[in-house]
Amino acid sequence: MTLFEKIIAREIPANIEYEDNEIIVIHDINPQAKLHLLIIPKKPIKTVADMSIPDDIEIMGKLFATAKKIGDEKKLEGYKLQINVGAKGGQEVFHIHMHMLAH
Ligand code: AMP
Repeated sequence: MTLFEKIIAREIPANIEYEDNEIIVIHDINPQAKLHLLIIPKKPIKTVADMSIPDDIEIMGKLFATAKKIGDEKKLEGYKLQINVGAKGGQEVFHIHMHMLAH
């Protein structure tokens, strides 16, 4: 089980910003910006390179929709969205997630 699956299962605590049936958003434990969220699909897809096409396109679109929802709600003027892909792409947790950073 990945770290994020354990957080979704409430086996490990996290600071949860938002949750629905398909997505959980938590605060990064080691924030790189004033606001640093991790937008995570509950489906445990390992990396972007492991996505099933076309099946996983919808859930990945929902990650962007969730970023927009949070950005709108918090009235953020701008933010960065980043997905690290693979160990050589800087990915440490092998459960797809989108970083959302705002200063
Ligand atoms: P990545 O390098 O893209 O796989 O990002 C993994 C992120 O998970 C890093 O930014 C870590 O700081 C963050 N992280 C690691 N453990 C936890 C945790 N227990 N709760 C929240 N974020 C975490």
